[in-house]
Amino acid sequence: MTSKVGYNIDLEKRLQGSVPKKGHTQAHPTLLSSTSSSDDPRDVLQGEDRAWFSHWKPFLAGLLLSLVVVQQFPRSEQPVICSPNASSVCPAASPIAPSVHADLLKQLEISYATEGFKINSFALLGGAVKIPTEMFDDMKVPGQDPRWDVFNQLHGYIDSHFIQVYRELRKTTINTYGLVYHWQGSNPDLKPLLLTAHQDVVPVEPLTVDTWLYPPFSGTWDGKWIWGRGSCDDKPGLIGSLTAIEKLLEKGFKPQRTIVLAFGIDEERGGIVGGTGIRDYLLSAYGPNAFALLIDEGGTLEAHSDGVIATPAVAEKGHFDLRMSISTPGGHSSVPPEHTSIGILAALIAELEANPFTPHLYRNEPYFTALQCQALVDPEMDDELRDLIGKARYSDKALADLEERLFRNPLSRALAGTTQATDIVHGGVKTNALPENAFAIVNHRIAGHSSVSTVKTHIAAVLLPIVKKFNLSLDAFGESLNGELSQKTSGHLKLSDAWGTALEPAPVTPWLKNPAYDLLAGTILNVVKTSARWNNPDIPVIVAPGTMTGNTGITGI
Ligand SMILES: [Zn+2]
Repeated sequence: MTSKVGYNIDLEKRLQGSVPKKGHTQAHPTLLSSTSSSDDPRDVLQGEDRAWFSHWKPFLAGLLLSLVVVQQFPRSEQPVICSPNASSVCPAASPIAPSVHADLLKQLEISYATEGFKINSFALLGGAVKIPTEMFDDMKVPGQDPRWDVFNQLHGYIDSHFIQVYRELRKTTINTYGLVYHWQGSNPDLKPLLLTAHQDVVPVEPLTVDTWLYPPFSGTWDGKWIWGRGSCDDKPGLIGSLTAIEKLLEKGFKPQRTIVLAFGIDEERGGIVGGTGIRDYLLSAYGPNAFALLIDEGGTLEAHSDGVIATPAVAEKGHFDLRMSISTPGGHSSVPPEHTSIGILAALIAELEANPFTPHLYRNEPYFTALQCQALVDPEMDDELRDLIGKARYSDKALADLEERLFRNPLSRALAGTTQATDIVHGGVKTNALPENAFAIVNHRIAGHSSVSTVKTHIAAVLLPIVKKFNLSLDAFGESLNGELSQKTSGHLKLSDAWGTALEPAPVTPWLKNPAYDLLAGTILNVVKTSARWNNPDIPVIVAPGTMTGNTGITGI
């Protein structure tokens, strides 16, 4: 089980983007699945729809608390290295502890470690999970679709459970349900800190409700897990941030650095209303390049019995939804052609699946660095793999062998390459009528070293033989690749961007010698080492740059 503490530092690049981020419904990855163990069979059932709240929720709150309390960013010229010979392999920041407010942090750490705090935290998250803020792809804007109304409940819940936040922070609503809180700092020379999360969750397929161990919006705490949609993605981000701020307010803390909280409403479909609205508001209210650090939801924190590996995401994959629409002449199914639209569509899908994108490891990508870091500290990694990862730094043969070994695992392939998944298929209306039209939508998550145009080129090249085999005309993303439409063809295939939401991979957030990254990494190191959860200042902790298998952003910005 992993928990996540994620961020995206380079807000400016996000703010400049005009294309809304496509939402993600993703597994939050571990580096190597071979090191991610679980003895709980329920892991297989409902994945991220539950949170191991008891150990990491206080950690998240503690992390955010520490970030708020630390007033100055660290100097980045002298990074502390994981081990004496690891400088070029896995550079890391030094632990950072607040000096001025050390006593306050200590008090709150003690408070976080109490059973009362934990029980209250379970209830707070469970209560938020109970409110089904489902996000559907076809939602109209707020005010024109009653499915938004449930967000009022969540807002009432936040106002009534975070009293100090309600009283002390300035709240602005964006497009009715997006929330931005402003906590004024005393030092105008310090750029604000931006903490983000999203209020919405992916919908539940009604036919699957009976198969859930606990109802999907029960927020049940079974003594170990919190169950339900949003228990991991992303209501802990929402509740964790608010908890950290609430506790500081209760203690009378006054920040030097302004703190801004921004909570999106439709991240799970790309932030079309919430993320873009919040982006525009932040730009107008704070200006460009206004924030020192943005912490969003991407990344993981793996807690092993004898060590912790945190991989805050500095890289996000791109996104492309391919629509394949096939048209053929209609008719009665008593006199059918050799292949119907649906049959041809099936052949197209099969051809794509037979020719997947080839993943690769690149030494200059964050995933490769994260592997190096894990090899240095992970006691659960077998020595053969550890050796291979080390040699892959300079041996192309070892790199190829490492790819071969890693890519047996779907998660490793997803982290290192572009993925494809046929998620929607439609065609036919009656058993005795030939289907004139059929379509499928194929989701792609684009690797950092690739691009939307590369994906489109790959798709067209893979499908061309099938186009020829079935004697089709072809419109490939606006370009005819197989001559003009003709009476002589048996049908027509159109390839297009299904929703017009293609998104290039995000620019990688600079993480080497970056004071913002060092602040986050150093804070994680210190919080883990001082946390009552582990009660071990010597616990091995590694912070390495992570990669998201999808993309987020308030989130949406
Ligand atoms: Zn999310």
